[in-house]
Amino acid sequence: MKSPVIAVACVDNRLHQPSIVPQLEVLLDSNSIYLETMPGPEGCILGRKDDPQNYHFTSLLSDLTLLLEAKDITTVALVGHCDCAGHPVSDEQHRLDVLTATKKLQAALPNTVSVIPLLAYPPDDTGPWKVQPLLDSPETVAR
Ligand SMILES: [Zn+2]
Repeated sequence: MKSPVIAVACVDNRLHQPSIVPQLEVLLDSNSIYLETMPGPEGCILGRKDDPQNYHFTSLLSDLTLLLEAKDITTVALVGHCDCAGHPVSDEQHRLDVLTATKKLQAALPNTVSVIPLLAYPPDDTGPWKVQPLLDSPETVAR
């Protein structure tokens, strides 16, 4: 039996289409994806201008701690996406911010938990969104 994974993703409905979860299942080798959503998750983790106390990050850690313990989960995926209203930056900045937010989240969670950076992007104006893993290197987002 495959292990469950928590995906921390945006509230954006383009990430909640039927094509997305199967991609996450393949990328994360899981058939049980728990969703934790907030607008622009990597921005929430790094700290939004309208949230000087970083309440969103504190709240996320509380939610994750509950789920990690309750469901014996050891993998969390941080799923950023391009064209995000909650974190309106360039595609390249999304890539960098997801990687930085992944490190911050990893440092705040127990050593037994792995955090995996992912980025979703639209291959064109009409096709289904694609999710791809991010590597900690200066590659740009593949289109
Ligand atoms: Zn978004």
